[in-house]
Amino acid sequence: RLVLGIETSCDETGAAVLDETGFILGESLHSQKEVHLKTGGIIPTVAQRLHRENIAGVVQDALNKSGVAPRELTAVATTVKPGLALSLGIGLEYSLNFVKQHEKPFIPIHHMEAHALTVRMIQPVPFPFLVLLISGGHCLLAVARDVDDFLLLGQSIDEAPGDTLDKVARRLSLVKHPKCSTLSGGQAIELLAKEGNRLKFSFKTPMGQYFDCNFSFAGVRNQVTQVIKQKEEEEGVQQGGILSCVNDIAAAAQHTVASHIAKRTHRAILFCKERGLLPECSPTLVVSGGVASNQYIREILKIVTDATGMHLLCPPSKFCTDNGVMIAWNGVERLRAGKGIMTHTDQIRYEPKAPLGTDITDQVKEAA
Ligand code: ATP
Ligand code: MG
Ligand code: FE
Repeated sequence: RLVLGIETSCDETGAAVLDETGFILGESLHSQKEVHLKTGGIIPTVAQRLHRENIAGVVQDALNKSGVAPRELTAVATTVKPGLALSLGIGLEYSLNFVKQHEKPFIPIHHMEAHALTVRMIQPVPFPFLVLLISGGHCLLAVARDVDDFLLLGQSIDEAPGDTLDKVARRLSLVKHPKCSTLSGGQAIELLAKEGNRLKFSFKTPMGQYFDCNFSFAGVRNQVTQVIKQKEEEEGVQQGGILSCVNDIAAAAQHTVASHIAKRTHRAILFCKERGLLPECSPTLVVSGGVASNQYIREILKIVTDATGMHLLCPPSKFCTDNGVMIAWNGVERLRAGKGIMTHTDQIRYEPKAPLGTDITDQVKEAA
């Protein structure tokens, strides 16, 4: 069985062909990152135009590399939620035309479910497991109980950590930094932080007084922005210039984001243990999403998992950020489980907002 996966939920146009074992026969990815870096953020109409220009080429490239003809495909899986409406629309429209033309079943995919399940393409982690998804648009903790069965323990009440790091990087004008011109905000902060001393600045970790599993990052960003303003005055640097202490600010900001994520994850592990939500033998924490490619954050999470007898697993970095492979893999998982395979596509719509699974964040709050 062969699945074509298509991703266009945000700023990556991705496609891949996988077989049932998760072997990647062909993949293709077009990133809009550099365009959006120049404009200082994603402009939805620009993202839409770039998806429209690239989708046919990206899908054709993945098919060519795989040597698979459309008629040989078992199904087509495409991200339909959540994401930017204008971006999702392009992938869905293209996919629905494709499945109609080639008379193939369609598998609508939840982008966060795909991030959560990617790890199982690499190794067969059994359900249930705890999953932490940290990306540019999301931050959540959930128990994955089955391919299509998640318990949502907590999520960000304001912005996502990737968004925070992107905004801090933008405020620090890191696109103008010689080492960072082609890096995403998160990548730029990670790189500079390696040369910095995080102890030069101290930022308060959010939500210290709450013992639920929700997150908040807006306050971190405000604190960092205050320090940047203050340092610009001290150093006589105009906004748009590079501060001499940029590495130290990057290190301190990264550390604060990391320790907040680690504390909330620790809380989720304790909740799961209390409720018996995870297996007693070798319970696993899976971490994915773009921010999960950050090595510093992985190291801090390793301390938490070691201390609680959990096993930490992260997909390789290239599968943490958005791509077509993870969507195709989710299609394989659903095909195997016989779940959500559509032969009539008239009713299918994209959904910009879509929660992952059953929301028990209030229960977690009460237990705290
Ligand atoms: P979502 O998956 O929530 O819809 P998205 O498309 O922005 O959002 P991804 O492509 O999974 O998510 O991740 C991109 C985000 O990851 C960006 O915010 C980027 O700054 C961040 N990121 C990428 N690499 C790193 C890194 N090494 N350290 C920290 N953050 C990183
Ligand atoms: Mg992206
Ligand atoms: Fe994503």
